[in-house]
Amino acid sequence: MQDLLDTEIKYLQGVGPKRAELLNKELNIFTYRDLLYFFPYKYIDRSRIYKINELDQELPFIQIKGVIKGYYTEGRGSGKRLVADFQDDTGSIKLVWFKGTKWIMQSYVPNAEYIVFGKPGIFNGVVNIIHPEIEAAEKIAQRISSAFQAQYSTTETLKNHFLTSRAVSKLLGNLFRQINFRLPETLPDYILSKYKLAGLHEALFKIHFPSNAADVEKAGYRLKFEELFYIQLNLIRYKNNRARKQRGFIFSNVGENFNNFYFNNLPFKLTEAQKRVMKEIRKDLGSGKQMNRLLQGDVGSGKTLVALMSMLIAIDNGYQACIMAPTEILAGQHYYTVTNMLQGLNINVRLLTGSSKRSLRSEISDSLIDSSLNILIGTHALIEENVRFSNLGLVVIDEQHRFGVEQRAKLWKKNLNPPHVLVMTATPIPRTLAMTLYGDLDVSVIDELPPGRKPIMTMHFFDSERNKVYGFLRERISEGKQVFVVYPLIKESEKMDYKDLEDGWDNMSRVFPSPDYCISVVHGKMTPAVKEESMKLFKEGKAHILIATTVIEVGVDIPNASVMVIESAERFGLSQLHQLRGRVGRGADQSYCILMTSGKLSKEAAARIEVMIRTNDGFEIAETDLQLRGPGDIEGTMQSGIPFDLKIADLGKDGQLIEYVRRIAEDILAKDPLLEQNQNLILSQEMNRLFSKRQSWSNIS
Ligand code: ADP
Ligand code: MG
Repeated sequence: MQDLLDTEIKYLQGVGPKRAELLNKELNIFTYRDLLYFFPYKYIDRSRIYKINELDQELPFIQIKGVIKGYYTEGRGSGKRLVADFQDDTGSIKLVWFKGTKWIMQSYVPNAEYIVFGKPGIFNGVVNIIHPEIEAAEKIAQRISSAFQAQYSTTETLKNHFLTSRAVSKLLGNLFRQINFRLPETLPDYILSKYKLAGLHEALFKIHFPSNAADVEKAGYRLKFEELFYIQLNLIRYKNNRARKQRGFIFSNVGENFNNFYFNNLPFKLTEAQKRVMKEIRKDLGSGKQMNRLLQGDVGSGKTLVALMSMLIAIDNGYQACIMAPTEILAGQHYYTVTNMLQGLNINVRLLTGSSKRSLRSEISDSLIDSSLNILIGTHALIEENVRFSNLGLVVIDEQHRFGVEQRAKLWKKNLNPPHVLVMTATPIPRTLAMTLYGDLDVSVIDELPPGRKPIMTMHFFDSERNKVYGFLRERISEGKQVFVVYPLIKESEKMDYKDLEDGWDNMSRVFPSPDYCISVVHGKMTPAVKEESMKLFKEGKAHILIATTVIEVGVDIPNASVMVIESAERFGLSQLHQLRGRVGRGADQSYCILMTSGKLSKEAAARIEVMIRTNDGFEIAETDLQLRGPGDIEGTMQSGIPFDLKIADLGKDGQLIEYVRRIAEDILAKDPLLEQNQNLILSQEMNRLFSKRQSWSNIS
């Protein structure tokens, strides 16, 4: 039967090679199964047949049953139309067509009984239906159909080839006939009964051919349950497997380096959240299992410090550690922070980036091999072939979303035994989404900012109010504060008229002329050396204003910069806006974020700006983002732990169900880790079918 579902769609009655090609191209339907899982986007209630004397223009789509009494034309030129008088035993209305009139007259003959479907309107005081759907009453009785009628979204091309929603429904009817109304179950009986789920066959049939809304509800629940359940089952099985197989280095001591740092160098008290997370990490490191932990914390929550202390534990146990960052600026920033914090300790820290000189590289190489190098900080350069550690014990990956899984995998392979891995991200992901995106990682959350931070004040100005903003900046600069100005692009968009960075720079230089003001510029097309120089100017407080593209988006830590101006803010997504805003508010001063936009905002852009003004809470912003955009955009699917598109479930809306099925999956695997029990046979078969071919992605993270 499984094989039957893999049959190419062209073999289905009513399809054939030509239509098959269209279905492939337009709807991604290649097999019987694809068609079966092509779900309707809405339903129309056709359970009731109205009488003509009940009709008025307030009614939605309705149907009536009667006969065509005759055709004639009305109007002239573009208003010329074909009209039919349509009658039942209570009265008569007009059916109206502006196009395809010849075909209509040939297809629907007077005095035969038809069901007419459409939205009633009124013209010159007479009820009419424009371009109605018509079907012979007896035909409806014959085909598989239902009163609660499924509507499928099809494309223009498909409609031009008569592959309308109704045609798709007919094909589905043919399909159910061909498989003889029997589909093999894909969930074990005990799950169906325990969680009160409809059988697969019933669910699939009812989702396409329901009799009422309750049918749709019940069918939809079963199908969503299954879709999310298998994803979680796969993630947890994978996680358990790894935990069983991969032995991890045991870091049993917290030694001299850690203690020295903690008692002598740590400039402030850890927040409660930092302490809790450190405990979680220490537990992992001492467990004998390989740590794979995601550290989530809003921007500015102090993740770097947690990374640093974890690395010190590695060093105390005789291992090396590294931090990998997505940009040179950020790697440089970490290097600066780490070396500063470790002053007076005998720890050898080095920075390796794409622009490191060859002599430095070979020096680093040597010291990696002879173990004299303790901490290596860098960019992608760390994963190049020729970088070899002698005993890499801990890998920290910062701002995780910038790295592909494959790049991470390369780091794994640098050791015979996989090092412990700490992945840090400031992209706040709602809990249930994290369960799916990072479902195979353990998650720690820093949900508290260091004390004394004042919430950033966010304001919105239109471009026309620019002068007000300049006045505000002048005041802040006169108080000794520094200002970021960020642009979405530099000369990348020809079509659209966005203020780009160069214009902005010209403009700012006029408003803030030297020698009174110093402006520094950073963008993606500069060489690393020039970039570094500009950053330094700003970091050392010599420049008042830093104009930048989104290169500063992640991680840059300059406490004295307390104003962030985001130009063309309507162009940025919510999480990006939040990240950018997080560059300020790091010192004790009141910080400001100014969102500049053009006068015309789309509904979504206005909603984004509104949320930014309303809250500083990254998680609330992420939830809103999820609702505004849907989860698809947040993280590429390949990275997300879902190797296929979701057909029916919605990561944004089905959060509760995700948690529910995750617990069920955990429970099942706790009792039967390899899914070997008889009752779980179906589960392992389904897992093979769903994941085996596409499993390679998940060998990694
Ligand atoms: P992020 O989580 O965004 O990477 P950072 O690690 O860069 O945040 O920390 C942001 C700032 O907060 C840094 O200047 C850091 O020194 C400071 N910081 C970190 N932890 C604390 C703490 N417990 N108390 C006070 N300041 C802290
Ligand atoms: Mg950081």
